[in-house]
This record gives sequence, structure tokens and C-alpha cells, in this order.
Amino acid sequence: MAITVKNPIVEMDGDEMTRIIWKMIKDKLLLPHLTMDLKYFDLGVKHRDETDDQVTIEAANAVAEHGIGVKCATITPNAARVKEYSLKQAWKSPNGTIRSILDGTVFRKPIIVKNIPPAVRSWKKPISIGRHAYGDIYRSVEYKVPGAGTAELVFTPANGGEKKSLVVHQFKGPGVLMGIHNTEQSIRSFARACINYALGEKCDLWFGAKDTISKTYHAFFKEVFDHEAEAKKADFETLGISYRYMLIDDAVAQIMKAEGGMLWACMNYDGDVMSDMVASGFGSLGLMTSVLVSPEGKYLYEAAHGTVVRHYYEHLKGNSTSTNSVASIFAWTGALARRGELDNTPQVAAFAQKIEATVIGAIEGGVMTKDLAAIVEPKVSSYAHTEEFINFVAARL
Ligand code: NAP
Ligand code: MG
Repeated sequence: MAITVKNPIVEMDGDEMTRIIWKMIKDKLLLPHLTMDLKYFDLGVKHRDETDDQVTIEAANAVAEHGIGVKCATITPNAARVKEYSLKQAWKSPNGTIRSILDGTVFRKPIIVKNIPPAVRSWKKPISIGRHAYGDIYRSVEYKVPGAGTAELVFTPANGGEKKSLVVHQFKGPGVLMGIHNTEQSIRSFARACINYALGEKCDLWFGAKDTISKTYHAFFKEVFDHEAEAKKADFETLGISYRYMLIDDAVAQIMKAEGGMLWACMNYDGDVMSDMVASGFGSLGLMTSVLVSPEGKYLYEAAHGTVVRHYYEHLKGNSTSTNSVASIFAWTGALARRGELDNTPQVAAFAQKIEATVIGAIEGGVMTKDLAAIVEPKVSSYAHTEEFINFVAARL
């Protein structure tokens, strides 16, 4: 008998190889077992183009309404893609659009399997990274200084108050200059999203910055984070988890000796760099999940990788592919588990858990796609094609 998912899940379809995988996952792993009310939005690039990207906005609003969504990887068009798909224009990154509507923070978490040893020996549990996705050098103003002169930082209050100016540097010759900013609202949302995630996952929370050097800018991040964490102190204590502030270089050193199992909240640049280090340290992009969490506790689950375009072109030529579907499967199980928890329907969460265990069991039993076959220990003599892997899991549900 099918299990009923009580409340809606917002589904965002996507592009290329991941769109093909997406349909297989739904048809073979989910629909035979679940009765779901899916609010479907087609974020495939052609449909975004037809709707002048309105569909992306509608989909994001639907997540705000229903609370839980799951998203397939999508093309962010550049000039070459505009030509390839005959698009009206190079539409903005759907992830960027959705993130700004939900005001969310992105968390990445690796899936751990026993036969893929992490590059760092002490890592036993997944390390999640929460990256602040607004401001700092990603919204900077830069200037190449041509020669001697004075650089100043000037703030003009909107209410006509007194101007404030600070000397950045007296240049004696050519150099380079950058102005960066962040907003209290964005930092606070980031801190709240990280705290919500840590409480939801029942894991410790680390935050690292460099407030010893940056006594105003970085110190402000620390102040906001400390303040928001203090407000949730009782919840942290009830769950037996902790919040720690560390200097960023100390955090890096500690992470290499830690067992894992924590959420590491990072400022924008640190998150950009460290999420790639953690992802490759745990093995493969095909095993990296990603979830956007809004400060109001809305969740959008996805795989961290893109549309795997090289495999898609092979597929179009009629060649067989071996694309890893695990992160896309876990996007669905993440959404189902959270839906089940919010709806108080443990049978839904239990089914999500069963899919995850079956997938991990398959890989640990030696059945996996080519990307994993290359890094698994002990070595395996063959690998599964895209559909074979999903069929193998489907047969065991
Ligand atoms: P990608 O799709 O992540 O793939 C890069 C390479 O990583 C692949 O060619 C493949 O290596 C390997 N790979 C990634 N995922 C894999 C999987 N599931 N199974 C096996 N191998 C996997 O990145 P991309 O090719 O740079 O980007 C393609 C499109 O995706 C772009 O249009 C980009 O805009 C979009 N994108 C979307 C998102 C998103 O929606 N969240 C994120 C990133 C990129 P081999 O070719 O060596 O096998
Ligand atoms: Mg990066």
C-alpha cells in the first residue's frame, strides 16, 4: 500500500542529464510507493525562457508557501547556452533568484559510505558547510590605482547627517583598492539559518572569522552570531549541542583533526574555498547534497552538482552513461524526511530513510557508478550505468 505524504512538496524540474535522472528517480523509486501532492514547476531552461523566467519566481514563492521543495539541477545560461537553446536572453541563475526570494543560506553535506575513505583520516562523520551567500568580495567595488594619491572611505547618511570619511591609504605609487560591504539583515539571516540548521540536524555549530585583525567588519559578524546563538541557548542545551566561535585559521586547523559531524558556518569567501576542500576531501561531487534554508525555516533540497552536461551529450548520441544519481536521490529523501517530520508522519520519514540505506548499501556492496568506482576501496571490477544503478535500488525497496 502506498504511503501518503500529507502536505505538498514543491518540485522543480531541471535540465540535461539531471532531468533524465530526475524522471527515473520519480518513476522508479518514489511514485510506486508514495502518494504525494507535488506542486510541479518546470525550471528547464526552455520553459524558463517561455515564461520570461516567471516560473522560477513562482516556484520560489511556492516553497515559501508550502515550506518544502526539491530542485533538479538547472542550466545557468551564458552566451554559448543562449545560442545552444535559442534563448531570448541569458537568464539569471535560478539558484540566485530563489536564494534572494527565500533569503536563504546554502548548506552542503557529503554522503558518507564506508568504502570511500575520506582524504583526511580523522573524518568519520559528515562535515556540513554553511556559506554566507551575500556580499564581501562578491559584491565589491574595485579600483586599480594608477599612481600616488589618497584613498578614502566615505559614508554619506541618507538622512542628511554628517559625512564620515576615513583614510584607507596614502598611495606613493600605483596599487590596487577594493571596497566591500555587508548588511546587518543579511548577516543576521545567515546566523539564524545556521542555527536553525544545527538545531534541525542536531549537530554542533562552529563559526570562524578573523575578528582579531578585522576588529569592526569581522567582529560585527561575530557579534551578530554570538547574539543569535545566545537567544537559542536553551534549545542548544536541550539537544546537547554546542555553539563555538573560533578564529578562522584555528577552525581550519581544528577541522583537520576533528571527527566531523558539525556544521561549519563560513563567511562568503571562506565558504567558497572550504566547501570545495571538504567536498573533494570526502570523495565526489556525486555524493554532495545541498539544502537552502531560509530564516523562517523553509527548505529547498538539491544535489550540489550541475546538469552533468558532458554525460548528456553522450546520452544524446545514444551512448550509455554512468552518471551518479545519489545526490539527486538524497535531495528527494531530504525533502521527504523533513516533510514527514513537519507533518508528524513518521512512515514518510522512515521510507526516506529506507531509500537512503538502500543506496548506501548498494555502494558498500560494490554496486556504483563510474565516478565512485574510480575511488572506492577495495577496487571493483565493473560499474553500473545510470539506469542500472537506479534499477538496482528500485528492486530492493
Ligand atoms: P557539473 O554538471 O557539476 O559537472 C562537472 C563534471 O563533474 C562532470 O562533467 C562530471 O565529470 C562530474 N560530475 C558532476 N556530477 C556528476 C554526477 N552526478 N555523476 C558523475 N559525474 C559527475 O558542472 P558543469 O558541467 O560545469 O555544469 C553543467 C551545467 O550545470 C551548467 O550549465 C551550469 O550552469 C549548471 N550548474 C547548475 C547547478 C545547480 O543547478 N545547482 C550547479 C552547478 C552547475 P566527468 O565529465 O569527468 O565525468
Ligand atoms: Mg568554490
